[in-house]
Amino acid sequence: MKLPGRNRRREDSGAPGDVTPDTTTATEAGATDSTPADDTAGVTAVAAKPADTKPADTKAADTKAAAKTAGARSTGGVAAVGGVRNRVRRFLQKPGSADLSRYSKLLPQIAAQEDRLRELTGEELTDAAGDAVEDADLCAIAREAARRALGERPFDVQLIGTLAMLSGQIAEMATGEGKTLAGAIAAAGYALAGRSVHVVAVNDYLARRDAEWMRPLYDLLGVSVGWINQSSTPEERRAAYAAEVTYAPVSEIGFDVLRDRLAVRVEDMVTTPPDVALIDEADSVLIDEARVPLVLAGSAEEGIADREMADVVRKLARGAHYEIDEDARNVTLTEAGAHAAERALGGIDLYAEENLPVLTRLNVALHAHVLLQRDVDYIVTGEKVRLVSESRGRVAWLQRLPDGLHAAVEAKEGLSATDTGEILDSITIESLIRSYPTVCGMTGTAVAVGEQLREFYNCEVAAIPPNVPCIREDEPDRLYATLEAKENAIVAQIRQTHESGRPILIGTLDIAESERLATRLERDGLPCVVLNAKNDAEEAAIIAEAGSRGAITVSTQIAGRGTDIKLGGTNGDRDEVAELGGLQVIGTGRHQSSRLDYQLSGRAGRQGDPGGSVFFASMEDDLVTQYAPDAAPPDDVDDDGLITDPAAHWVLGHAQRVAEGVNLEIHRNTWRYNKLIEEQRRIVLDHRDKLLRTDLALKTLGEKCPERLAELKETVDDEVLTEAARQIMLFHLDRGWANHIADLADVREGIHLRALGRGLDPLDQFHKEAVRSFNNLFDEAQQRSEETFKTVAITGEGADLGAAGLKRPSATWTYLVQDNPFGTDIDRAVRSVGRLLGRPRSS
Ligand code: ADP
Ligand code: MG
Repeated sequence: MKLPGRNRRREDSGAPGDVTPDTTTATEAGATDSTPADDTAGVTAVAAKPADTKPADTKAADTKAAAKTAGARSTGGVAAVGGVRNRVRRFLQKPGSADLSRYSKLLPQIAAQEDRLRELTGEELTDAAGDAVEDADLCAIAREAARRALGERPFDVQLIGTLAMLSGQIAEMATGEGKTLAGAIAAAGYALAGRSVHVVAVNDYLARRDAEWMRPLYDLLGVSVGWINQSSTPEERRAAYAAEVTYAPVSEIGFDVLRDRLAVRVEDMVTTPPDVALIDEADSVLIDEARVPLVLAGSAEEGIADREMADVVRKLARGAHYEIDEDARNVTLTEAGAHAAERALGGIDLYAEENLPVLTRLNVALHAHVLLQRDVDYIVTGEKVRLVSESRGRVAWLQRLPDGLHAAVEAKEGLSATDTGEILDSITIESLIRSYPTVCGMTGTAVAVGEQLREFYNCEVAAIPPNVPCIREDEPDRLYATLEAKENAIVAQIRQTHESGRPILIGTLDIAESERLATRLERDGLPCVVLNAKNDAEEAAIIAEAGSRGAITVSTQIAGRGTDIKLGGTNGDRDEVAELGGLQVIGTGRHQSSRLDYQLSGRAGRQGDPGGSVFFASMEDDLVTQYAPDAAPPDDVDDDGLITDPAAHWVLGHAQRVAEGVNLEIHRNTWRYNKLIEEQRRIVLDHRDKLLRTDLALKTLGEKCPERLAELKETVDDEVLTEAARQIMLFHLDRGWANHIADLADVREGIHLRALGRGLDPLDQFHKEAVRSFNNLFDEAQQRSEETFKTVAITGEGADLGAAGLKRPSATWTYLVQDNPFGTDIDRAVRSVGRLLGRPRSS
């Protein structure tokens, strides 16, 4: 058994790799891909990182680590993808995706070893895995190991997916193609090359399921595996991270990183340095949830539910008192609305300088009242506001809006405000993933976001063909003039399909729609199961039966993702259901991104099964009214409201493309702001790590305060003194960082107001102020540390920071924010305030 790769890497990062980085294979790599081997390795190493933010020493270490992998197994890196040559291609290559021929040409080599490997004992097979040098050998061994350990012999296409992931790509493989196994082999491959792998799972349930499901395979390959759930203890987490392959949801990894970031003793840390991230449902994590910040907060303080404002805005009417932007991202008070609010607030002047806070409260309340809809954006359960994640269509238990807005929603719903607390640190999922030197992954829908994956993560997409051709019938959209006509048609379609006995999976856009539809179906004698905000394991059990004869399952977007829908259900008769035509997917509306539509239709027709999908849409759908508000009324509407006018169909597609463009712009914009914060964060963390692991703190403070040092040395042990200095400097650095990010949030909000007033570029302004604030951080932390060192009581027990009022937060907790605290939600509120301020005053 090998040591976990990370340990090895940390210990001998300067030494030559021990995994045969022999020049022969490296030259081979160069020869076959006409790319110099070291270039290839270099590109792979920094592919997933902003190269400019990395300190030179770690960069070198990464390159070495990658050279190890690249040398150990000779598939090229990302750079080789560009060198597409005119070979006879075994597989059709999708536009915008990587060339697969360099993987498929290894298949004969893999197949040739099969008979020989079958003869090996288990132990011999494990040894062979440990000795495997070429990717082809690894695949051959893993194929035999999977056959023995799991009873599943990986198909060629699965191994091609594995090879793509081993080259740092995102493998696009349809639902049901067996990504779990393909990913596990890739993870084992990285681990056997000395790397430490985090398999990022969609949720707790899947992290545990996949790790346990694949464990026999890992065992046989001699690779250790662990998993992490929300409820894992620190000891369990430490053990899981110490394994060579660790399965965990992205939020748990992020929270661990954040908590570790505040550790005051090395022993308290649970994570290990990021190395390889292998991401399941990669597009969800890398694109849809990229901007979601994971937050570590500490020390409680009561939030205020602003009931007064909630009552004021409740009485305002759309049109007369406020207007909503066509993309429903902004709400603006009209003149009449401002007057009404002024009267309701006792005749104040909203635009007087001193009333700016009132105006802000009013706008936040209005935002909560108008733009955030109950059962669409959030649900209320057990006296709490729970957010609904748009891309997952399910309730995210820990998510909250930025504090002010969250309290406003609580006020709107008549609830008392929950604790807020101070943000100690936060990191977006995007930043977290970018901290991994190697990023790869798998999903059913990647090609559509291929360019974004390249732009944000430097990852290429490899579109892997299905094992058995897909015969699912995707019907053209049925477009209706009105919502009512659409819903009638949906119910009629469900009835008709249900009468044939065919199972139906209905995908809705939100929970409210799910429940409305379910109620109507029940009333019409069409009993169905609704999937929305239950727990993952329960959802998995329900969705597993969605392919049973006669089943009607209503699900928000991708609840129950990751679970296979087998025709006939788990114990039923597959052939009977196949005979009927397989699973029928019905979408009740097009999503904001075509990729989400594909995710839904992809649930039918798995592994060559029969199946079908059809989407219903109407000109009154939010997608159309928000993103194509000026569309001309359709011609050619029949009696049932069905539209055959091609121009109207074009409008629907157009609205979706606009929505995709808007979301991409928001992503880009958030990243522009976050990038700098991320660089600053990394600098602080590098410094912090030195304080934590070395005697830098005592050295620094001793140099600055030699007399105090001499005085203390008389009574206090060196060891205690070193620790005391460390705790002092860590305290002030952490304090400084928390202040800094709070400042940045303020700056970000203020910048918009000021920039709007002066016509300056908000991003430039933000950068200037962020850099200024950051420069102060170190100086201040240093000065404060010196003061504390001079004044605080330091005895044989250490420094008594608590007595000096320097307390670390007594309790910390973590949560996800639905959207960036520096980003859109507050942004929107601020933008509307800005607009109001810029508006000519009424008299
Ligand atoms: P995906 O994640 O791609 O949607 P899964 O990994 O959940 O797919 O696998 C879908 C189903 O296919 C599972 O039931 C799994 O056991 C099965 N499967 C995967 N690979 C093979 C194989 N090589 N041979 C037979 N069955 C397989
Ligand atoms: Mg899966």
